[in-house]
Amino acid sequence: MTTRVGVIGGSGFYDIDGLTDAEERHIDTPFGAPSDAVVTGRLAGREVAFLARHGRGHHTSPTFLNVRANIYALKTLGVEAILSFSAVGSLREHIEPTSFVVPEQIYDHTKGRASSFFGEGLVAHVSFAEPFCPALRPALLDVAAGDPATVHEGGTYICMEGPQFSTKAESELYRDWGMDIIGMTAATEAKLAREAEMCYATLAAVTDFDCWHPGHDDVTTGMILANLSLNVEAGQRLIVETLRRFPDERECGCRSALSAALATRPDAIPADVRGRLEPLVGKYLN
Ligand SMILES: [Zn+2]
Repeated sequence: MTTRVGVIGGSGFYDIDGLTDAEERHIDTPFGAPSDAVVTGRLAGREVAFLARHGRGHHTSPTFLNVRANIYALKTLGVEAILSFSAVGSLREHIEPTSFVVPEQIYDHTKGRASSFFGEGLVAHVSFAEPFCPALRPALLDVAAGDPATVHEGGTYICMEGPQFSTKAESELYRDWGMDIIGMTAATEAKLAREAEMCYATLAAVTDFDCWHPGHDDVTTGMILANLSLNVEAGQRLIVETLRRFPDERECGCRSALSAALATRPDAIPADVRGRLEPLVGKYLN
């Protein structure tokens, strides 16, 4: 059995080329509706489910994304691993616009987003020391090594709330903290993917130098979209090749992330909570 892989496309990446037997799935979840229909089909010899993170018309900003619905919808479609594509700003001189980064760590600097499936009626604490899948990340890097695109390995992604870009004071502070790239989405997705026991890795497309850089007084959406158009093609190529070479046999703990995480006594879990979270925790409670 090959693994069904989800692809979440970010800014500038609203559909995926080459998908055959494409079918739009309008899915409702107990957490509400995902950002858009999920498009399922076949690509690179694999079952793929594609979701445009902000919707295909880019209509939802990071703060208002229903990430729980997005991850839950992919989970109910049988997706076991997610490759995500996201636009980021660079906080380092050597990470130049139009290059890519496969980050290794995350700092979650968002404010009050719904970033867990658990809390009311069922408490769970998953391990998150390594926020990206230790099998999927190397697969992406392996593909990158043979590709002409410039792809930086490692570094820390700071996930800010947005939707405004940083002030100079914030940007300099994040650099002092040791952060390498800045975006608005990966932390929330990575946390929820881990809770849903799905592998997750991010290909970050660098669009700008954020505002700390002397050559850039200001980050503008126009600048970002112009640079994105330059690297969406390379991003698609890297993602598709990773789908082709995805390790179906993998020794990561993602698929059992909840095995030691559930804190609530099963008989204390309300029936409605149990029902809502059945696709995630059913195998541990039944
Ligand atoms: Zn994994």
